[in-house]
Amino acid sequence: MADFALNDDQLQIQKWVHDFADQVIRPAAHEWDEREEFPHPIVQQAAEIGLYGWEFLMNAMSDTSGLTLPVAIEELFWGDAGIGMAIMGSALAAAGISGNGTPEQVMEWVPQCYGDAKKVQLGAFCVSEPDAGSDVSSLRTRAVYDEATDEWVLNGTKAWITNGGIADVHVVVAAVEPELKGRGQASFIVPPGTKGLSMGQKYKKHGIRASHTSEVVLDDCRIPGRCLLGGKEKLDAKLARARERGHSGEKQPAMSTFEATRPSVGAQALGIARAAYEFALDYAKERKTFGKPIVQHQAIAFKLANMATEIDAARLLIWRAAWMARNGGFKNGEGSMSKYKASEVAVRVTEDAIQILGGYGYTREYPVERWHRDAKIHTIFEGTSEIQQLVIARAISGMRIE
Ligand SMILES: Cc1cc2nc3c(=O)[nH]c(=O)nc-3n(C[C@H](O)[C@H](O)[C@H](O)COP(=O)(O)OP(=O)(O)OC[C@H]3O[C@@H](n4cnc5c(N)ncnc54)[C@H](O)[C@@H]3O)c2cc1C
Repeated sequence: MADFALNDDQLQIQKWVHDFADQVIRPAAHEWDEREEFPHPIVQQAAEIGLYGWEFLMNAMSDTSGLTLPVAIEELFWGDAGIGMAIMGSALAAAGISGNGTPEQVMEWVPQCYGDAKKVQLGAFCVSEPDAGSDVSSLRTRAVYDEATDEWVLNGTKAWITNGGIADVHVVVAAVEPELKGRGQASFIVPPGTKGLSMGQKYKKHGIRASHTSEVVLDDCRIPGRCLLGGKEKLDAKLARARERGHSGEKQPAMSTFEATRPSVGAQALGIARAAYEFALDYAKERKTFGKPIVQHQAIAFKLANMATEIDAARLLIWRAAWMARNGGFKNGEGSMSKYKASEVAVRVTEDAIQILGGYGYTREYPVERWHRDAKIHTIFEGTSEIQQLVIARAISGMRIE
């Protein structure tokens, strides 16, 4: 049975991340949002205390209740979502490696997505393309095996990649047999310094501006055979099954990574929502109109009551999904439910927070407008809200819904 009482370890981690978010991240948030640059000094500090690092991620992921990771992420993103993404961005690459690699590949490459406090490194997970975001089955990036040299040759352009081009390790999902659509895809490691991988345009964004997002261009990018995640034998068997049956019944590599990480993405949105709610509540107790604090006007009080209720509802869905992910898996799209609910709640709550602050809320002097901009990405990346609804609808109906 799920038990949502946090244990001593989890409470300690919650406080530890909260203190870092409060003392280091929040004071730096406005500056890095304005600069629209990757916050290297803050990530460096996170690495020095062990918050940015593969050991922390692996420890959190090995917690059998599943709650440690969402609890930590909520605090991190309560601090700031742009800097939070800069710290969490490498985790997607690590999840892509853990989900598809052999134990030896996980041990070799996950630590390289992080480096250490002496030399911080970054990872990037490259799936999306200019013409394939939600529809990951139609990736155009090709991977061709060169038997003579035992190398894979990658060609294509990846779009919207967090840490793209500035990462040390790029995990790339590419089509080996495009006619098999998603079943013909595989994941590859592009090691640090590999020729043929370069950064394309860097996107100027609406929110999470401290997180770096770029195109990644692969131009005859040659990688050793051992960089195919899962190994050639497994891929050959999978392709043979897919050719035989039309589809293998196996999940696409990118989709399985996203499924597993959905409660964590929900927790990111939750952290932003809670930040905005707390700020708005404090403000509403101070700000007076018509002779009383605005919290004593029912319209404002009820808005805050709704914000608190929705935030708690989102957290319960996230914790349930995180627990299920570690204890038997999802049954009715619970991972998607948690991400869908939390991201929609974050957008609404941050908008309500602006409303509660009135004109002040609309200015950059107060953080709520930034939180609103930051919240929005959560209804888009790692599966849009519509795609989450699609996953849930398919799970509950058992039917194909397009
Ligand atoms: C800041 C940022 C960071 C990102 N980081 C990464 C990263 O690190 N790695 C990575 O691989 N990708 C990353 N992405 C890409 C992201 O995952 C995609 O943008 C997202 O999946 C949506 O794809 P798209 O932009 O192509 O939209 P589209 O797929 O073109 O969708 C457009 C609209 O159509 C809707 N739609 C599409 N298909 C359906 C359907 N079947 N039914 C109903 N509605 C539908 C969508 O919900 C959306 O509203 C990032 C994106 C951003 C903006």
